[in-house]
Amino acid sequence: MSLLTAPPVTRSLGSSGIGISPIAWGMWRLAEGGRSAGEAARLVHAALDAGITLLDTADIYGFDGQAGFGDAEALLGEVLAAEPGLRGRMVLATKGGIRPPLPYDQSPEYIAQAIDDSLRRLRVDTIDLWQVHRPDILAHPQEVARALENAVSTGKVRALGVSNFTQAQTEALSHFLGQPIATTQPEISPLRIEPFENGELDQAMRMGMTPLAWSPLGGGRLLSPQTPRDKAVAAELDRVAQEQGVGRSVAAYGWLIAHPAGIVPIVGSQSADRIAEAARALAMRWTRQDWYAVLVAARGERLP
Ligand code: NAP
Repeated sequence: MSLLTAPPVTRSLGSSGIGISPIAWGMWRLAEGGRSAGEAARLVHAALDAGITLLDTADIYGFDGQAGFGDAEALLGEVLAAEPGLRGRMVLATKGGIRPPLPYDQSPEYIAQAIDDSLRRLRVDTIDLWQVHRPDILAHPQEVARALENAVSTGKVRALGVSNFTQAQTEALSHFLGQPIATTQPEISPLRIEPFENGELDQAMRMGMTPLAWSPLGGGRLLSPQTPRDKAVAAELDRVAQEQGVGRSVAAYGWLIAHPAGIVPIVGSQSADRIAEAARALAMRWTRQDWYAVLVAARGERLP
């Protein structure tokens, strides 16, 4: 049985020229449970030591509906202030544009303010990747593009990305933007397979955007599947995982990485061991048949 192409050792952040690991680590849950800066530093080290160089956060991470806006960024900022050498080892990605209680704001004034606030909380001079977290329907893409270009031309941001955008929204922003959009960040996992067939990943390939997959384990649902469909997906992953001596979560990352769009799964675990283990996904190899078996299980019906 022929194997799909092995994943590359590094990927590029779109056409930005910034090299990244084929797996990222996400900090959505970093500020949960009153984690100390020392504990956060241990997780950052676990990711970097495992060769995971793309670290993804957002200004809204830590917000609980009332308070905590900026907390995950501020915690990472504490880690970086205590150990400045870490900054050069990571490609730092954050996001903005969700503004409680509005819910979204991508007016040029707010984008500029959000980027300045993130720089201050993270205690860095430059953000490597700034992503629009969710689309603001009330913002004209030409104005958004102008604000983003300002952030790049002033050196505050190196590369730009979008998240949770429709294809048309991405296309419209790209039309007005004087530089390529480097990344798109939809939810993709063996339990959320729409991007494989709805054109999102085809658009990413056509536009040279690196797809960053959020919640690659369905937010943890893949580890405790409840429905017959989710259990069938888990069973197909387990079959391949056992053959290759890895766990189900690693198989899920490996399944995403094997796609030709160069999907970068954002590992959401806040356990040092699980973060380190995630890197084993790079050694996985998939046959075409095994890859499709997971997809068919997720579809719940055979392919035509
Ligand atoms: P996920 O990997 O789908 O889920 C992670 C959760 O699964 C954690 O709570 C983790 O708990 C749990 N888990 C249970 N067993 C696990 C195992 N064996 N291995 C790994 N994890 C296990 O990812 P996510 O946290 O939902 O999202 C990942 C990242 O995507 C976020 O950090 C953020 O950067 C990004 N994100 C972006 C958006 C967006 O709108 N752009 C939305 C959501 C997330 P433990 O910590 O105990 O391991």
